[in-house]
Amino acid sequence: MSKKQNIVNDLLKFIDHSPTPFHAVYETKTLLTQHGFTELKESNAWKLSSNGKYFLTRNDSSLIAFIVGTSTQDTSGFKIIGAHTDSPNLKLKPNSAYDKNGYLQLGVEVYGGVLLTTWTDRDLSLAGRVILKARKQPQSKLVRFDAPLLRIPQLAIHLNRDVNEKGLILNKQNHLPPIFSLTNKKNLTKNLLEKMVAQKLKCKPADILSMELSLYDTQAGSIGGANGEFIFSSRLDNLASCHAGLQTLIESKGKDPMTRVIAFYDHEEVGSDSAQGAGSPFLKDVLERLTLDSENPRETFFRTMANSFFISADMSHAIHPNYAEKHDPMHMPILNGGPVIKFNSNQRYATEGVSSAWFESLCKKAGVPVQKFVVRTDLACGSTIGPITAANLGIRTVDVGNPMLSMHSIREMAGANDHLPLIKAFKEYFSASR
Ligand SMILES: [Zn+2]
Repeated sequence: MSKKQNIVNDLLKFIDHSPTPFHAVYETKTLLTQHGFTELKESNAWKLSSNGKYFLTRNDSSLIAFIVGTSTQDTSGFKIIGAHTDSPNLKLKPNSAYDKNGYLQLGVEVYGGVLLTTWTDRDLSLAGRVILKARKQPQSKLVRFDAPLLRIPQLAIHLNRDVNEKGLILNKQNHLPPIFSLTNKKNLTKNLLEKMVAQKLKCKPADILSMELSLYDTQAGSIGGANGEFIFSSRLDNLASCHAGLQTLIESKGKDPMTRVIAFYDHEEVGSDSAQGAGSPFLKDVLERLTLDSENPRETFFRTMANSFFISADMSHAIHPNYAEKHDPMHMPILNGGPVIKFNSNQRYATEGVSSAWFESLCKKAGVPVQKFVVRTDLACGSTIGPITAANLGIRTVDVGNPMLSMHSIREMAGANDHLPLIKAFKEYFSASR
């Protein structure tokens, strides 16, 4: 198998293991540990060694990992790649189960900008985090059902005659709750979900203190197209960028005067304002702690920050052949055309002249083509962690990401030949001393 195929298969495995941000962080932790990284706790004192490899998490859904630079105590700077662990989805409400017209259904909330119609008629299941009673303090456990337990069936066309002309309009409260079971007398539905979770976690239903469960599509990602040039999968936005950043850090060799950092945040899809989102002090706190051992820590920290750089990696919109008019004619990124630099002068993206020129030169050195995106002037622009982190840290930032179609659909589409080039560009970043 070629290196390109290997890396894409690796990406699909990573996404498949990560139905929720909790699982994505767990998978990232596992891979980092296998590659010699040590876990730190925010509440403990840190004893860090030069060139040492570490990681830490917040809320089990955001993660920062780094390789300590050999000159971090001498203001040499941080090289950071940021991405987000969350994807739009449907989340179970706390009291989710109810009977209606002979069906057992589960109430759901819409998390982020879900392309709602794509969640209908899919083989859905549940995954997430459960908090259990324990002797000393409550314990957090991951749970995942593999079998397709749930379905949001569309109304038959005979009962919705003009759906093809008017489009499928879904009321979020009334039309999204999935069907979980039937409520006939033989079928004991009281606390059925709790019983199933307890069975999975080998505990009693009464031990469950809280559950944070999300729906996910049980169909694994695949490589498609006439020549295997596409990826069809859930959560490419933004686990593909997480995987590229993680792979780059894991494969980073040798010593570097600068500290190499990856920061993966939860809650990007809902605005990043949380204790573990990009709007939180998580990254700033960690970076400051890295300079605490120097002679004049406060000054070292500010000077190190002034020498630092942030690549905000999030997926970008490729041109859709059936809707080409949705793009600015001079900015039409194509699949497998290489990473995209994202621009918006209203600061929905943090890219500016210096940071874009720098990223472009990085790609050139890595032998990777590069594309540019700016939204049509008469359309509103999306945003990401770039501007939020730039405002939080005050360091130079570029917003980049691989091109894709069907963003925020339950099953998205990207180019299979774009993943390795993005990693190559990131590797150039982590190998070059700026
Ligand atoms: Zn995203």
